Amino acid sequence: MAQVLADRREMEFVLHEQFEVSRLSEHQEFSEFNRKTMDMIMAEVRTLAIKEILPTLKIGDQTGCRYEGGKVTVPPEFKRAWNQLIRGGWFAPCQNPEWGGQGMPHALHVMAQNYLIGANMALLMVAGLNQGAGRIIEQFGSDEQKKLYLENIYTGQWSGTMALTESECGSNLGDLSTSAVKNEDGTFSLTGNKIFISGGDQDMTENIIHLVLARIVGAPEGSRGISLFVVPKFHVNADGSVGERNDMVCTGIEEKMGLHGSPTCSMALGGRGKCIGTLVGEENKGLSMMFLMMNEARLMVGAQALSCASSAYLYALDYARQRIQGPPLSGKDRASVAIINHPDVRRMLLTMKCHTEGMRSLLCYIAFLEDQKKTSKDSREKERYQNLIEILTPVGKGYVTDRAVDVCNLAVQVFGGYGYTSEFPVEQLLRDVRITTIYEGTNGIQAMDLLGRKLAMKNMGLFLDLINEIKTTLAEAQMIHSLSALSGKVETAVNTLCQVAEKMDESVRGEAVLRAYAFANPFLEATGDVIMAWMLLWRAAIAEKKLEKGVEGKEADFYEGQLNSAEFFISGFLPVTMGKMASIMDLCSAAINISDASFGGK
Ligand SMILES: Cc1cc2nc3c(=O)[nH]c(=O)nc-3n(C[C@H](O)[C@H](O)[C@H](O)COP(=O)(O)OP(=O)(O)OC[C@H]3O[C@@H](n4cnc5c(N)ncnc54)[C@H](O)[C@@H]3O)c2cc1C
Repeated sequence: MAQVLADRREMEFVLHEQFEVSRLSEHQEFSEFNRKTMDMIMAEVRTLAIKEILPTLKIGDQTGCRYEGGKVTVPPEFKRAWNQLIRGGWFAPCQNPEWGGQGMPHALHVMAQNYLIGANMALLMVAGLNQGAGRIIEQFGSDEQKKLYLENIYTGQWSGTMALTESECGSNLGDLSTSAVKNEDGTFSLTGNKIFISGGDQDMTENIIHLVLARIVGAPEGSRGISLFVVPKFHVNADGSVGERNDMVCTGIEEKMGLHGSPTCSMALGGRGKCIGTLVGEENKGLSMMFLMMNEARLMVGAQALSCASSAYLYALDYARQRIQGPPLSGKDRASVAIINHPDVRRMLLTMKCHTEGMRSLLCYIAFLEDQKKTSKDSREKERYQNLIEILTPVGKGYVTDRAVDVCNLAVQVFGGYGYTSEFPVEQLLRDVRITTIYEGTNGIQAMDLLGRKLAMKNMGLFLDLINEIKTTLAEAQMIHSLSALSGKVETAVNTLCQVAEKMDESVRGEAVLRAYAFANPFLEATGDVIMAWMLLWRAAIAEKKLEKGVEGKEADFYEGQLNSAEFFISGFLPVTMGKMASIMDLCSAAINISDASFGGK
């Protein structure tokens, strides 16, 4: 069977050759995760994804979720798949084993996610919320909250949600109006309406534990007055049994472009009776607690996008090898050939390949930083890892999701007219992946985070740590004769990016602030492009060394493919990035100066 989720050899390359993730097993925190165990886990998750989850992909899209009589039902096949995820321990892979987690390295998990999410993003989106909801309770919750909810969330017996968005506040949560009043017994009564809540209701689990942002009556306005509450769908009795229904109910689900298998719910709190919740952590600290979880959540969205892109690429590749259409452009033979032989199709495939590979490496790198931070005993080293995570997170979310949409779009193109039909899964992947650029902070917000916060932090120290990391790879690649030309191009791009970053940092804090923000997104793109070039050069350096030692057959094909990816991106895309950077340096003011009326339309 064609590989349809992720290229197995490439996954091994990233895990074991580029990052040597199993080195983590030398540390007590990950001592169980040696190479053999990692390979076993990856083999198991791949089988689970292909055999149990993938068959639910199209069902989820076509059957979708239903809302009737105040209840949401998901396709029945999802329930079975959910139980398989429970059996595999995939609800809290990296979380604390004390509470039912698996304690797995993030780098291993991000690769496993490629298989699972690629098999059905809608299902895994709902399931994935358990990790964030559980982590918040584990880190900030009371002993009582942990005892009542945590194990059932981490094991997948119950699900978790994040109930933040309201009709009048999405990107700016400081404006939310759901309110909370303290009861005599210390609990809170909540009143309000939430929208777009993923998994707000579903029939796969006996209970749903909502984490809800609300403002305690009398609290300050804006983001400083927001608190976080645990609101169970059914109250939980002291002995852990499920009790009475709470009054947080689903009032409808959205009709969406994609992700039909994931119920996106409107929720009413306290509309009919009492919606009782308990405070998590301190009053008015709700948003800062959410922000602490944000890096992880944003990287999960990056992983969702990558998984769709990875799958779309492999479907397109398989199709291109089979679809016969038109004679070759050169040679005497006029017989039609498989479209993979046509230069324009090869361009599309290699574009998809190099982006998918670069993005996979980037996400694994960020996850590995998280693991290294955990095992490091040196506070300065820990700080450096955190700096890198912080600066790379908006790229891992914003850049990766934008490029993943491009990759899925190209996959439809490779299929021609069939790509636009539901006979093949690529049109679904394109519809499903589209949301990743919007939720968990739109990509506009990611770009502002990079430019307005992360770049300036510690006197541009985060950015400089990143540049130093890139320069380490450059120095290694420059020692390899065959890569010296490519390394030179990457070095030029890195130096230009440093100039652009300095100018943007200065502009964003001066009179040109609005113009700078108008170029926040191009700046994120340029940064992402340079990071892709870095990742692909790194991979090429490893491949070149392997080829120099002498490998044959499929192994040689694989490593040569790495050189092709790096060359294609660095020679084909990086010059465009240089152009993008020149345009950023100009900071054209048209987008700021144009009057509302001049936009037309009225
Ligand atoms: C399928 C789906 C699932 C979701 N799941 C959840 C969930 O589980 N829980 C939850 O709480 N929410 C969820 N959401 C909501 C999602 O997080 C929001 O839609 C998102 O944060 C954007 O908010 P908004 O839709 O109000 O758009 P807006 O905030 O109105 O943004 C509209 C546009 O304006 C831009 N914009 C807004 N403010 C600024 C600014 N200050 N500067 C520059 N540009 C700006 C944005 O980038 C965007 O392009 C989900 C949404 C969908 C569609």
